[in-house]
Amino acid sequence: MSLAEVRHWVFDMDGTLTVAVHDFAAIREALGIAPEHDILTHLAALPAAEAAAKHAWLLEHERDLALGSRPAPGAVELVRELAARGYRLGILTRNARELAHVTLEAIGLADCFAVEDVLGRDEAPPKPHPGGLLKLAAAWEVAPAEMVMVGDYRFDLDCGRAAGTHTVLVNLPDNPWPELADWHAEDCSVLRRMVLA
Ligand SMILES: [Mg+2]
Repeated sequence: MSLAEVRHWVFDMDGTLTVAVHDFAAIREALGIAPEHDILTHLAALPAAEAAAKHAWLLEHERDLALGSRPAPGAVELVRELAARGYRLGILTRNARELAHVTLEAIGLADCFAVEDVLGRDEAPPKPHPGGLLKLAAAWEVAPAEMVMVGDYRFDLDCGRAAGTHTVLVNLPDNPWPELADWHAEDCSVLRRMVLA
């Protein structure tokens, strides 16, 4: 299957459709989380009240970041091209769904994604768990092999592999994970040209 034939696309958001702005080191420090620990896993293990307070802080912090989001190079043109073709488009992100919408509005792409096809941290298990992709496959009534997962990090690629979708790595000059990525594009402009080819 060539990339131009894939009609079901799922995107990571931060660092894929947007310029990465999360300062994870600062977030960990503010929440008292050790550098080597995963933020969401850490919060999930806390007593309920402390976890709720820290989730609330995280949401506020992320809302500010979302309002100031900027599109990654070529991302708007790529998504608009796919949407104009009538392809199904989804988002799989560790952000909250509400913030994913704030972000999509900030970069001018909110109209390209159906609300129910934007899966945040409350709608799907965190990547690399394949649950989010499998949920979209079921909703879209397609086999995972007819889908592609696009992301900028190995968790996105692992997630695609685990679900059985195709995978695209974007926004890295080189591909450190050739065994995990079916295609690699330096940025979304290059990816758009691959779709047009
Ligand atoms: Mg990312």
